[in-house]
Amino acid sequence: MKCGAMSLVGIEGARCGVYPMRCGKWSCPVCGPRKVRKTLARTRAGMSLGTCRFFTLTSPGTEDGDTSYANFPERWKRFRMRIERRFGRIEYLAVVERQKRGAAHVHVVYRGPYIPQQWLSRVAAECGFGRIADIRRSNPQLLRYLAKYLTKELSDPTAAPPRYFRRVRWSRGWCVWEKRGRTVPYGDWWILDAPPAVAAMAAARRGFKVEEVVADGLRVRFNPHWAVRWMRDLAGYRPLSPLAPDAA
Ligand SMILES: [Zn+2]
Repeated sequence: MKCGAMSLVGIEGARCGVYPMRCGKWSCPVCGPRKVRKTLARTRAGMSLGTCRFFTLTSPGTEDGDTSYANFPERWKRFRMRIERRFGRIEYLAVVERQKRGAAHVHVVYRGPYIPQQWLSRVAAECGFGRIADIRRSNPQLLRYLAKYLTKELSDPTAAPPRYFRRVRWSRGWCVWEKRGRTVPYGDWWILDAPPAVAAMAAARRGFKVEEVVADGLRVRFNPHWAVRWMRDLAGYRPLSPLAPDAA
């Protein structure tokens, strides 16, 4: 889906608000920077709760990028279990980044006991990671490093992880996080297969009072004959056409 090419329409009686649907990709010029900001805020929130340490794990040197990404979740799970068995629970936030040769690299900031570098390196290798493991106290520069890793693919698309790969992971206790949702007073949400400007026009023509339209740089020339199909609501597929005032 192209970012903002479809709309979310909130409906309450005869009122509605129209918002662009976001693609949520790290490489997107709109969504990427937002995701980076959110990740850094999450990192900062967890770091403020206690002393943190920071380590990096690599992939084995012989491995190609795709294989290393495919193996990553299993390795990471094994590695975490090994740590917790030996040192007890840790709270962490991990960012996966693509190394120059294309393989996955993971940067981990955690709160918990000190882990000796030798142990880290040996167990990393036993879990399938590369031998190179580096551990240090976290410091203020850490956020700058993370920001750099996270923004890399905005300028370099080859740095992007495979599709659907979750590149930021954290433990449940890493930080307290309140979801800041949009507090818009609409009870019913629909997805429309048109950008916000068109969706808003369509809604207005159907007799809705459009209270708010959030559109971005996408320039849309409105075509009055453009057939706009109401697609589905968020809860699942429903028959077409919401309660349209003009149908009455
Ligand atoms: Zn986007």
